[in-house]
Amino acid sequence: MNMAFKSAHLSLKHTDKRIILVAGGAGFLGSHLCERLLQDGHEVVCVDDFSTGRMENLWHLLRFDTFSFIRHDIVASIDLPVDEIYNLACPASPPHYQADPIHTMKTCVFGSLNLLELAVHHQARIFQASTSEIYGDPQVHPQPEGYWGHVNSFGPRSCYDEGKRSAETLFHDFHLKYGVDIRIARIFNTYGPRMRPDDGRVISNFIVQALKGQDITVYGDGSQTRSFCYVDDLIEGFIRLMGSPSPIHTPVNLGNPGEFTVRDLAEQIIAMTGSSSKIVHKPLPVDDPRQRRPDITVAKRELNWEPTVALAEGLKSTAAYFERQLVRPSGELVEVA
Ligand code: NAD
Ligand code: UDP
Repeated sequence: MNMAFKSAHLSLKHTDKRIILVAGGAGFLGSHLCERLLQDGHEVVCVDDFSTGRMENLWHLLRFDTFSFIRHDIVASIDLPVDEIYNLACPASPPHYQADPIHTMKTCVFGSLNLLELAVHHQARIFQASTSEIYGDPQVHPQPEGYWGHVNSFGPRSCYDEGKRSAETLFHDFHLKYGVDIRIARIFNTYGPRMRPDDGRVISNFIVQALKGQDITVYGDGSQTRSFCYVDDLIEGFIRLMGSPSPIHTPVNLGNPGEFTVRDLAEQIIAMTGSSSKIVHKPLPVDDPRQRRPDITVAKRELNWEPTVALAEGLKSTAAYFERQLVRPSGELVEVA
């Protein structure tokens, strides 16, 4: 474990504010979560191996003396005094999680195991960032939590899908055996500022391509669907699920039920950015799910949560973020990978 820049506040005793470990805190969702927890007055320790996370996602948090970070791969065990743990550590974009599938699987399984053991040790409540990929290429639409899914165990997406399924099983079993207070969010496609320009997921790809006037790469015929949730809505869902006084020890879908084809999305982004980009078609990746939309009945009932940001509005602020990342004040484009 390498300590970086600022020391973790290891000597801090529990006070009215909680000490919260955010694994994967330097990533897209993790950095928004760290920010929210700090604003809520908590002590936050971000643990990240910076494989897809970035230091620039954390710069603005260094002004909080209640924030610290540790460079650490959760595949190895870790010990810190903590009251709560959020496990977001895992590459989420298909090209990134497929780049080293064995490490993705280890992150999901050994990483979850290590953080669950930490939760047992400190009697901490623990949150798992699970995923709609649990449902694979779903044959039930929209997907309720009770659907067991349609997942290939032997393909390029399996390291992620089966890794995340195994992690849910570990959370279930630690709850049964040790009474760990678990919370599991099944997250559907979420987007927003602080995604990497080279993240590889559809919204960041299309916005970056549109801003650069490059071809928009629609995989397949673009008739496959996804439901896109804006990051602020999702983080509110995390906080409500983790803070819920009623013990919600079963998985909860968090996502925006608005459903769009990938082709719709491409056209909407071209129109919004006023881009000269043209749509081109590339081969559909193996096992790419045909359709996806969350049934959020449970989140509405148990957390009084539902998304409030419409796709058009969320895309606008995401495009503004990428514009700041990509375009110099002179109008010149900044190169990204
Ligand atoms: P991201 O790639 O931006 O963030 C993942 C973070 O985890 C990065 O900071 C990365 O460096 C870190 N990480 C990866 N492996 C690690 C390891 N072994 N040890 C320590 N740190 C490690 O992705 P994101 O979109 O912010 O996703 C965060 C979490 O939410 C992931 O667990 C992902 O599976 C889950 N999720 C995200 C979405 C989404 O649409 N964004 C959907 C479903 C699930
Ligand atoms: N996709 C696309 N062009 C891209 C990136 C993705 O058409 O440049 C498609 C992809 O094939 C999938 C959908 O967009 O059907 C969502 O892909 P993403 O990687 O964002 O998320 P996931 O497939 O994990 O839901």
